[in-house]
Amino acid sequence: MANNYYELLGVTRNVTEEDLKKAYRKLAVKYHPDKNQGDASAEAKFKEISEAYDVLKDAEKRAAYDRYGHDAFKQGGMGNPGGGKGGMGSQDPFDIFREAFGGGGSGGGIFEEFFGGGNSNRATGGAQHGSDLRYDLEISLEEAAKGTEKEIRYRRPVTCKKCSGSGAEPGSKKVSCPTCGGSGQVTSNRGFISFRQACPDCQGAGQIIDKPCSECRGEGRIMDSSTVKVRIPAGVATGSKLRSSGKGEAGYSGGQAGDLYIIIHVKEHELFERHENDLYCEIPIKFTLGALGGTISVPTLFQKGSLKIPAGTQTGTTFRLREQGMPALRGGRMGDLLVRVQIEVPTKLNKDQRAKLEDFAEACGDPSNSINNSTEKKKKKKKKKFFK
Ligand SMILES: [Zn+2]
Ligand SMILES: [Zn+2]
Repeated sequence: MANNYYELLGVTRNVTEEDLKKAYRKLAVKYHPDKNQGDASAEAKFKEISEAYDVLKDAEKRAAYDRYGHDAFKQGGMGNPGGGKGGMGSQDPFDIFREAFGGGGSGGGIFEEFFGGGNSNRATGGAQHGSDLRYDLEISLEEAAKGTEKEIRYRRPVTCKKCSGSGAEPGSKKVSCPTCGGSGQVTSNRGFISFRQACPDCQGAGQIIDKPCSECRGEGRIMDSSTVKVRIPAGVATGSKLRSSGKGEAGYSGGQAGDLYIIIHVKEHELFERHENDLYCEIPIKFTLGALGGTISVPTLFQKGSLKIPAGTQTGTTFRLREQGMPALRGGRMGDLLVRVQIEVPTKLNKDQRAKLEDFAEACGDPSNSINNSTEKKKKKKKKKFFK
């Protein structure tokens, strides 16, 4: 069976990167197959130390190893000594604790953990960085266009004031953990894979608090509500991320607090549709305006704009109003507003309107518009009278 990676390399658990490299180099030179032609045990040893070094030199893998132990890196628990390059199993052990950032509802104020971790994060019992947090914030398109300031209220673990985060009642001391006998690790089985895990009672520290802090029950942190003011810059879009440094979960044992990530969700607008920095809208205009031309006022996010409709404008024609769209988040040109006109045909005509349109149709010499019924002539007479 493979040995403890640290032991294999002859280093302690808190070895620095530098010393780790030195230790590995020394052993690698000693057991290198080129130097030990035909020595199978030297070759096996070389593979073992390479595997150990591959894991420990990578901060992320090392943390996983510290947390889940050696077996986390083995395939199917069959033991695969001399796996050569790192011996990573078929399943990425990091998947276990690397919670996806995505997901998350889009409703305002949903509060959840950003990158997994949480309370089970105290593998070493030493100073631990607090987890980052995620907050989904819904804003209007107007707010996204102009920028705004929002106050966010949420709950998060903060350092307990009474014990200053130590978890110990002031005046009490630490004693060896009876569950793990002070080693900080226990072995548990998940299916046919056995994991060496941080002891659940001392969180890997090997020591427990004689008398836990009455305020935080030994956690070192307590849940509290926090308020943070966020300035939202003009031009943000759904998915924009804002970071509020140090506003995530408090760290453990003096570790740094995590960050708060605010994910922007821009509400749908009843009039404007956004594509990157351009805005699109559809405006109905009367068919007479399309035919005769004229100027209309159009709504924009900032103020009313005006749009000149040339005579003979067809339905579906799109006009571009330069720089009336969304501002660019990192400087640069404003987006445009694209207005698509929809020609509206009146659904009801009064007598007068109808008569005039019929005259118009006649003036156009359009027989299909000259109505197909027997009252045509009567109507014409009436019309003539009217115009006298
Ligand atoms: Zn406390
Ligand atoms: Zn323990």
